[in-house]
Amino acid sequence: MDSYKLILIPDPVLRQIAQPVNRIDDAVIKQVDRMVETMYAYEGVGLAANQVNMLNRVIVIDTGRRDGAAPNPIPMINPEIVWKSEELWKCKEGCLSIPGQYADVERPQTVRVKFLDRKGEWQEKELSNLASSCVQHEIDHLDGKLFIDYLSRLKRELILDRVEKDIKNGHYL
Ligand SMILES: [Zn+2]
Repeated sequence: MDSYKLILIPDPVLRQIAQPVNRIDDAVIKQVDRMVETMYAYEGVGLAANQVNMLNRVIVIDTGRRDGAAPNPIPMINPEIVWKSEELWKCKEGCLSIPGQYADVERPQTVRVKFLDRKGEWQEKELSNLASSCVQHEIDHLDGKLFIDYLSRLKRELILDRVEKDIKNGHYL
């Protein structure tokens, strides 16, 4: 199976709102599997549909591999945050669509997320720390939001400039 080609900023698809999945058919299952493969191919800990030029509400995450754990991808269809902790925590975030750039982003430390699994059954999971940041980051993608939106305008523009230069120099072809 081929991985998807990644969409990079400033592609407008990254600013669009993904629509809910109405039916989990073979095409959606195939998309989920291909997204998992793409996430691993690019060594990401999460991926959202917008980043592979799809506009349905599908994300995949696997935050364990950073610690050397076996692959344990969690695909989430129509994910929704149903609870977030008041405690915040800061995580150095990056994004496969904004290659090579990282910045601290503060978010709720724990969230509970409800989603459909690939069998079409509702699941609920409580995620903390890196997994919490990751799932919030990916759900943001589905709403056309990027981690750089949380930064000051100055920092954001600096990052955009750097990526634009890298892309011009052919770093991500
Ligand atoms: Zn991202």
